Order: sequence, then structure tokens, then C-alpha cells
Amino acid sequence: MKKLILMPCALCLVIFSISQPDRWQQRVRYTMNVDVNVQTNRFTGKQRLEYWNNSPDTLTRVFYHLYWNAFQPNSMMDNRSRRQGTIVLRQGRNGNDIVDWDQRVRDRIQNLKPEECGYQKILSLKMNGRSQKFKIEETILEVELDKPILPRSKVSFDMEFESQVPLQIRRSGRDNPTTKVRYSMSQWYPKMCEYDYEGWHPTPYVAREFYGVWGDFDVTISIDKSYILAATGYLQNPNQVGYGYESKGTTVNRPTGAKLTWHFIAPNVHDFVWAADPEFVHVSRKLKDSLIVHVFYKPTNATAQQWEALLDMAQKALPFIEKTFGTYPYKQYSFIHGGDGGMEYPMATLIMGPGAAIHEWMHSWYYGLLGTNESMYPWMDEGFTQYAEARVTAFLNNSAAFPYQDEYGGYYNVARSGKEEPLSTHADHYNTNFAYGSAAYSKGAVFMEQLGYVVGAQVRDKILLEYYRLWRYKHPNAQDFINVAEKVSNMKLDWYKEFWISSTKTIDYAIDSLWEENGKTNIRIKDIGLIPMPVDLQLTFKDSTKELHYVPLDLMYGAKPSEDSIPRKVYEPWHWTSATYTVQTTRKLTDIVVAEIDPSQRMADINRKDNRLELKW
Ligand SMILES: [Zn+2]
Repeated sequence: MKKLILMPCALCLVIFSISQPDRWQQRVRYTMNVDVNVQTNRFTGKQRLEYWNNSPDTLTRVFYHLYWNAFQPNSMMDNRSRRQGTIVLRQGRNGNDIVDWDQRVRDRIQNLKPEECGYQKILSLKMNGRSQKFKIEETILEVELDKPILPRSKVSFDMEFESQVPLQIRRSGRDNPTTKVRYSMSQWYPKMCEYDYEGWHPTPYVAREFYGVWGDFDVTISIDKSYILAATGYLQNPNQVGYGYESKGTTVNRPTGAKLTWHFIAPNVHDFVWAADPEFVHVSRKLKDSLIVHVFYKPTNATAQQWEALLDMAQKALPFIEKTFGTYPYKQYSFIHGGDGGMEYPMATLIMGPGAAIHEWMHSWYYGLLGTNESMYPWMDEGFTQYAEARVTAFLNNSAAFPYQDEYGGYYNVARSGKEEPLSTHADHYNTNFAYGSAAYSKGAVFMEQLGYVVGAQVRDKILLEYYRLWRYKHPNAQDFINVAEKVSNMKLDWYKEFWISSTKTIDYAIDSLWEENGKTNIRIKDIGLIPMPVDLQLTFKDSTKELHYVPLDLMYGAKPSEDSIPRKVYEPWHWTSATYTVQTTRKLTDIVVAEIDPSQRMADINRKDNRLELKW
């Protein structure tokens, strides 16, 4: 017989103290002036970029993103999308092939006419007043510097550029046929690539995921007077602009002339978005002293009531969100009708309809504040956001049902499909959009809920807040998250990262057998899968009482605290190399009516059928 240890619940009172991580990061300050011609859909721009090289490295070249060059026939994005269209995922109900392409992109780029393409042309580029040599490789601008940027020094780049707004294909662009929104202006300016401890990240724009340098934006946009703008940041001339931005009781006096100039500033963000339409309806509400939420919409593909209900949603959700995920620190947030689905930006989102609002808002945490390199860790961006969305939605609906059913379902689906790739895959390198989506969104969300199974839900919630406190305004990676989780939980979790993130191995535990011996009942649990996990085994007896038998995993070097009031026995750790483990109860075998591994269903067991055994006597 194995020795039983009763673990006191006071284990949850682990005291931790973690200091701020010390990692250098680059810094930018953009000052941009753009002048938009709404007839030609082109604009000219001047950009001053102050760039702080806080690294210990000497930089001999720099890179910028020129995202809109992707919206031209035969671009890398076009080629990639059309190749995805040749990958058959499965047969549809009517016998047609279901292919792997993004329905929004498909082969549309190939069919763009010259006036519908996007482009970003660099007219001139200077560093500290001296002209610089540069070359453009489609969506990446590479600048050979005439003098290197020394460690811990600052330079200024001055650029003149000209852009044409593409017809809306993916995320940004003009004249989306469904929303009828004229301008969705994301990825719209030449944007410095990030340089970090891994070097430069000049990732060609082929599909998805972004990474930017932390800094401040000062953006001035001149556009036809009839247009109403929504943007990242704080409008500096609200009483001159009006359109719902003006202070109460102000008479708006717009300057004469055909155009109106909008001036926004945005502190401590890593991107800047804006949108414009002459028919935007603008409503807003103060949610707390330091925060106004705005909604900009056209009643085209959703009603005015549906859009304006977002203000009530935001008001109800904000206290719960801040308590669970951390404070929203900016003074404004805007839900903006635009784009082609839902896409997150600092202090704003472009959404096609109100249904995408909660997910995109939650990106203010996992993207906006915790600025992970999404190409490398898309699951920390999309997965954590998906998790937060499900949790906030359950709160809003006052639902007691398990909120992550869809996320677990999506994960099981890809895990059984044979197309799964590890979460450590670069976002652009997944073989299929299907595998990327299931991994980044579903398996990434499961990572977080399943972490609650491993360390205990309350401990996981402390991890969320500590992760936010330590890593906001920075670029956390997977190991940074694990480090926080280990310190808060006082457990080793490297194995969880290795198995769940770096492999496609799966979890499968089963109830093997039950037998009575010497007045005790033995329950043998079997590990069939390739990912070891701690095991919660719950016994339900004829008299409706329950017992929880908890077997920690040896690799954890710890045990989770009790999560509820069910009497719990804590066992010696399960050595991960062992195929079976036997627990015991003093109750008779014929008293047991149900034996179930993980009744909470948070452990993503690929075959749950053998987790539960109902006994009929
Ligand atoms: Zn998302």
C-alpha cells in the first residue's frame, strides 16, 4: 500500500516576490503628417522617426515594414494564398473539396486592377539629415546606413512617402463591399521593424501576425472635411473637429477650406490605426474617470442598436476584466466598424460587426499591453485572447457552463486530424491555415485553462495578474510566461511548455481497473498518452458523497492546492515514466457509483470515454 499524505490547503498561501525583468528594448517616436486625396485614394506622408538604440549592439542597417505592397498581383501574400487554395482539407457535404484558403483573400489579390492595388513608395529617406541608400524587397524596406547607430544612442530618420490605399482585401483597405466603410487604415505607414535580443525581425507580410517597437505617436491627418475619423490615441483638437468629439456645449468652428486636419497623439503603444468614413455614427461613454469608450459604425451589416449595445457591454464587463486581467491604462478605446472580421490595434479595433468586439477588446491585454512577438508566439496573442474572451463572455452571460468547450473542441479536432503542428511553429510557417488557427486560437486557449488544472485555478489567476504586472509595455516570450507561472505557483512547469508547446503529443489517461483487497478498494489509473499530467480522480458513492484522489506529477516538484470542498487525498508523485498508478479508498467497491478522471474536463484528454466509469450494482 502506498503512503497517503494529507496536504493542508494552506499550501495556496505561497508568498512570492518577483522583480521587474531586466531586458533592453528599442524605442521609437513617430511624428507623421499625411494628406489624403479621397478621389484617388492616395496620400502623401512625411514621417520623422526618432529611434533609440537601447541595445548593446552597433546597427549598420535598419528595416521597415511596407505592408501595403502585399496587395499587388503576384505578391508573396497573393502567391501564398493561391497555394493554400490547392490544399484540400476534406470533402464538403456536397462532395466539393474544402480547400485551405483564407476566404477573405482567396485569389482576390491577383485580380486587383492598378487603381485597386496598394503600394507604399519611399520618395526620400534621411538619417540625421543625410540621405540614405535603401532597397525595397516587396513588403520590407532595407536601409544601408552610411554611419552605424552606436549602442545606447539615438538617431532621427526623415522620410517622405506616397501610398495608395488598396481595395479592402485583408485587414486594411478601402470600400469593403459588406461594411461599406470607406477607409480601414491599418498597417498604413512605413513602420520600423523590431530589433531585439534575437536581432532584426524583417518578416515579409504574407498572411498574419505583427510585432512593433514600443513608442509614442503624433499623427496629423488632413482629409476631406466630410470624413469622420476614429483612431488610436487622443484627439488633440476635438473642439475644432466636432463630430461627437467636442466638449459638451462647445460650438464647433471648423476652419474654412475643403479639408479638415485631425491631430492624434498616442503614448506608449506599438502601432497606430485609423479609419474614416463620411457616414460614421459616433457614440461614446465615460466608463471610469480615466476612460472613454467610443463606437463608430455605419448601420449597414448590423443595426444601430447592436452597435450601441457595445457601450453597455463595455460598462458591464470592464470591472470584471480589470480584476481578472489587469487595469486598462489608456484614456480611450474605440470599437470601429471596418476591416474584414476583427483585428486588434492599440486603443482600438476594426470589427466587421459587434460580435467580434469582446475578443478584439481583450487583445488590449494580449497584444496591446503584453506585446509578444506574434510571429514567434501567436498562441500567446490569439490563444490568451481567446481564453479571455470566453471568460468575459461567460461573465456577461452569467453562465455557469464550462466556457471553453469550443476551444477544447477545436484543439481535439486538429489533434485528431493528422494536420497538427507544434505551437512553437512560426505563425507564417504553418503548412495550413487550419493548423495555424486551431493551434494559435484553440490550443493556445487550452494552454491557459489547462494550466489552471495543473496549478489550481486560483493560482493561475494570480499568474495572469503577475504576468501583466511584470511584462506590460514589453515583449514577453513563452519562457517569460513560464518563469512567472513557476514563481507564482512554486512549481516546475518547464515540462508543460516542452510537451504542450513544443510537441504535438497528446494526453490520454484511463481508468484501468478496480478491485477490493484487505478491506480497501484499489483504483488503477493508466497513462496511455504521451504527455504526462497530474491526475484528479473523483469517486462518487451511493450516498452521493465524493472523494478526490490527487496524484501530482513528479516533474512539478509541487502539488496544487485543494480547489473545492470535496475531501481530498494527495499521493506521492507519479513518476512520468510509469504506465500505471493505483489509488485507494477505504470505501467498499460496491459503494462506488462513478469513478472519473478530471471531472472538471480541464485536462485536454484526447479520449475522454475511458476517463469515466459508471458502476451499476
Ligand atoms: Zn485575435
